[in-house]
Amino acid sequence: MKKYNFNAGPSILPREVIENTAKQILDFNGSGLSLMEISHRAKDFQPVVDESVALFKELLDIPEGYSIIFLGGGASLQFMQIPANFLIKKAAYVNSGVWAKKAIKEAKHFGEVIEIASSADANYTFYPKGFESKVPADVDYLHICTNNTIYGTEIRKELDVNVPLIADMSSDIMSRPIDVSKYKAIYAGAQKNISMAGVTVIIVKDDELGKAPRELPTMMDYRTHVDKGSMFNTPPVVPIYSMMENLRWLKKNGGLEAADKRAHERAEALYTEIDRNKLFKGTVENDSRSLMNICFVMNDEYAELEKPFLEFATERGMVGVKGHRSVGGFRASCYNAMTMEGVNALVQAMKDFEAKY
Ligand SMILES: *Cc1c(COP(=O)(O)O)cnc(C)c1O
Repeated sequence: MKKYNFNAGPSILPREVIENTAKQILDFNGSGLSLMEISHRAKDFQPVVDESVALFKELLDIPEGYSIIFLGGGASLQFMQIPANFLIKKAAYVNSGVWAKKAIKEAKHFGEVIEIASSADANYTFYPKGFESKVPADVDYLHICTNNTIYGTEIRKELDVNVPLIADMSSDIMSRPIDVSKYKAIYAGAQKNISMAGVTVIIVKDDELGKAPRELPTMMDYRTHVDKGSMFNTPPVVPIYSMMENLRWLKKNGGLEAADKRAHERAEALYTEIDRNKLFKGTVENDSRSLMNICFVMNDEYAELEKPFLEFATERGMVGVKGHRSVGGFRASCYNAMTMEGVNALVQAMKDFEAKY
């Protein structure tokens, strides 16, 4: 049976990206060695890094003066590496979910952190609003998590603030065009929207580096990795390769404008069905709804049908639609590689399940 991968992360990738990566794992560029066996300094691998950087620049329209680096450690390491490099005295953070909260906790190791807005008291059922005018002018940056993977809330627009932004875009990077010039840094663990687990992408503004008033261990300092083109130590070779394949796929499929359009189409189909279907309801405020992680639960009077629906959907090939334990219900993650076929299969399962009751 065909499987539809709605996992929140690691998550769906285009079939051709997986197949092309698999071929290189068996025989990298006809070398007789696996992609898993070659040196990251082999002459055939540098072009993979170079092409990945070039595709990021092209697809995200990254201006001059920014570097793109590929590191290990996940987005979670960035929760501390970001403030280590950029927090001089004081930073503002928006507490929009568990990942944002973790970023706040780590930043406090490095300086003063102001939480300027939070939806924690409402179990993060909306993206905090109205904070743009409240950002103190003297903070080094405003940190946001653009898409809250667990709760299904998203801020899918450029903020209007007079301080530089830093964003955790782990679960919505490359799903829409962004104005990179507004950011000091953007980071994302690759395993949601751009590759397999193992690589983290960080886009940093070069002239903001080296200003923090602290000694940084070599590996912590972004300048180490910028200067060495992500080759200071052994980078995650296979995840970088599959990322390059995925960026090629994105480009071939119309770039980020087209990715944004597809994200809207997928989400609209699912939210329309959630709102129409008598069995289900959404879990977040309408104007905070994420296009990436679509969360819903059974309506109160049908609460006992939660497990049966999960089984019903699973029998029809849906994978990973169980909600996060802190929200319950269901979460359909619709990252870049999710097709309308997959979305329609889930919508049909919801309709057919409703017809039984
Ligand atoms: C998954 C996720 C993280 C954590 O990523 P790791 O790469 O596992 O450290 C951080 N932020 C967001 C928004 C996420 O979705």
